[in-house]
Amino acid sequence: MKKIALVFVTAVFVPSLVLAWLAVRSLRDQQLVLERQQYLLYQGVADALAKEADGFVTDQQHEFGQRAETLLAGGTTAEVTRLFDDRMRTNWPNALVTCAVTTQGEILSPQPNASPAAAAFYADFGKFLGNRESAQVYWNANKASANGGNGENNNSQAQNSLRNVVPQGNQAAEVQNYSKVASSETEFRQLVGDANEGTIARFVDNKLRVLLWHRSLHQTNLILGAELSMPRLKENLGTIVKGLDPALTNDIAVALLDDMATPVAVSRDGFHANWKRPFVATELAEALPHWEMAVYLLDPAKLAHSAHTLALTLGLLIFVLLLAIGVGGWLIVTDLNRQLTLARQKTDFVSNVSHELKTPLTSIRMFSELLAEGRVSEPEKRQSYLQIITAETSRLTRLINNVLDFSRMERGEKKYQMRPFDLAGLARETVETYRPHLESIGFKIEAELPETEIMVNGDRDALSQVLVNLLSNAEKYSNSAKAIAVELERIAGESRIEMRVLDRGPGVPRGCEERIFEQFYRAHDSLSSGIQGSGLGLTLARQIARAHGGDVIYRPREGGGSCFILSLPMEKQATRVNP
Ligand code: ADP
Repeated sequence: MKKIALVFVTAVFVPSLVLAWLAVRSLRDQQLVLERQQYLLYQGVADALAKEADGFVTDQQHEFGQRAETLLAGGTTAEVTRLFDDRMRTNWPNALVTCAVTTQGEILSPQPNASPAAAAFYADFGKFLGNRESAQVYWNANKASANGGNGENNNSQAQNSLRNVVPQGNQAAEVQNYSKVASSETEFRQLVGDANEGTIARFVDNKLRVLLWHRSLHQTNLILGAELSMPRLKENLGTIVKGLDPALTNDIAVALLDDMATPVAVSRDGFHANWKRPFVATELAEALPHWEMAVYLLDPAKLAHSAHTLALTLGLLIFVLLLAIGVGGWLIVTDLNRQLTLARQKTDFVSNVSHELKTPLTSIRMFSELLAEGRVSEPEKRQSYLQIITAETSRLTRLINNVLDFSRMERGEKKYQMRPFDLAGLARETVETYRPHLESIGFKIEAELPETEIMVNGDRDALSQVLVNLLSNAEKYSNSAKAIAVELERIAGESRIEMRVLDRGPGVPRGCEERIFEQFYRAHDSLSSGIQGSGLGLTLARQIARAHGGDVIYRPREGGGSCFILSLPMEKQATRVNP
């Protein structure tokens, strides 16, 4: 048993535990994978919208360039440059103020006092555009048209500042906390270099001002500029945010945040959140420094919930799997154990049967030799020896019959000759056949059998074998209290007949009342009790009784001893009275 337990632990229990551990680990990984997938999906959305917003500013830059060239082509340079601001703004409301400056720093348009906006423009950009002062700006020259850009300026970029927003998603990976865009202190002339167009962003009194510039194609020392109207820009970028893929609108809201993390546009009307704590966010390029395209989960608990459901489903699956392995393993072990017990019982059976064959054979041989040699002269002794030989022969016959019947039943070859007969007559006959033997060894046998015939439909020989087995057991397990009773009774109202064989022995040990009917099972061990047996007698008795629609059961006898009951259904043709 210890060996089986060891096999069970190493072959089933430990591998299942390892399996469970691996499964739980993969469960946790699954959750991370789910979170990561969601992070990547929404980061992709934020990136795409941010790119679209950046693209919009670039488009504005190109559009301005084209419009400026069209204007320049429509008149003399002097006239166009002088009236540039007026003409440009009439046609292009996206610009707040436009300007025409030379690379030498002369501002040709607008006139300083043309409008309040022009005056403010002069105040804020006049010195910078006139190359009289440098300024802290974010700039992005169109690298494609720039002749190599200006490496010096890039190098002089200030240390990246911390971002205003702190994205919550992707806790597993490192969150980018530093801003990717940085300002640098530079002069306009230096910034323009020999590039053809670009964007300059600058904070004046904490307000963002965006300036597009374009170098005239024909007069390369002439730079045309336009400060973008912020309300118009916000309106246009709002359309991009509102154009969020409808498939996502039930899960997320997107907001375009300005440099103070205040929403400029939100994809979903009436949506509010802690704007500084989006799920994921992407910074816009230098044209709109520190602006972010931020994604917020509409139901932040949804991911945790679906991860929880996934974990629960998988957990349940693992549990069921482990349970199945456990139950399966347990069943295998029990079956193995049963097979081992059976194998052991079979070995015991072989040695018991050999012994049972040997004992009567020895007596038969000894007494028959005595008789054959004529060494016994007294007739009583001869008579008694002959009786012993007869008893031992019938014991042998009984044993061989039991073994043969058992193997026939095992193979399903046992056939019964069913016909109605008188059970009371059979009981009387069997008891009387057995009586001389029992009385010769000091037994008292009482038979309470009815005078009337009790008809049953069955195999007479098989049922006789049941009674013989029960009587033989009563004899074997009676110890010194040598009194056996056989009773036959019709159970009123139940159409059932009970035949009882009772003794005054120690009875069947507690807990073995059912097991004694199992094949080869012996409650009294041959070695310790000295009582010979094969463990087949009751198995056969019960199988025969059940084949007749009845049963054999055990009850402890009142006042001590055993009571084995053979119950059989009564023959329909009722009882005949003895003549
Ligand atoms: P066997 O008698 O050959 O061992 P059985 O199948 O006839 O096999 O009986 C099974 C077991 O039931 C016996 O080993 C014995 O322990 C128990 N048993 C049977 N009859 C009696 C009885 N009359 N009193 C006590 N125990 C009994």
